[in-house]
Amino acid sequence: MSKFNGGCTCGLLRYTLNLPGSSDDARTTLCHCHSCKRAFGGAFGLTAKTAKDNLKYTTSTTPKIFVQNNGVHREFCGECGVFISEYGEQAKNDFRYLCVGTLDDGSNALPPKGEFFTIERDQWMPQVPDTFQKKEIKN
Ligand SMILES: [Zn+2]
Ligand SMILES: [Zn+2]
Repeated sequence: MSKFNGGCTCGLLRYTLNLPGSSDDARTTLCHCHSCKRAFGGAFGLTAKTAKDNLKYTTSTTPKIFVQNNGVHREFCGECGVFISEYGEQAKNDFRYLCVGTLDDGSNALPPKGEFFTIERDQWMPQVPDTFQKKEIKN
């Protein structure tokens, strides 16, 4: 079992990520779609897909949830604005896509296994070696 801690910048939101087997129970991917670029304020989104129950908030404060018109739910800190996780309408009872940059030790422990929406990759952004490549769909 692997356990990770993380949270937002101001500390009102803290969480644990418990992976029952190995770090392979969280599948990290980049997403180059424009919706992720905007949400992350960067050149791509970087999340780890994991079972909903593996991610637990440990603080009394609960995240604010914004539901985008495409059905994507985004959980964030209402105080400092840090974006913690996202999930689509259909996945909401089963999965979380954790923003791995919010882990206390950063994203190094959960390196990416693939890339989505490579059709929208920024021109200056190279492919991540040894990862699967999907032109569009994210799931
Ligand atoms: Zn915060
Ligand atoms: Zn995306």
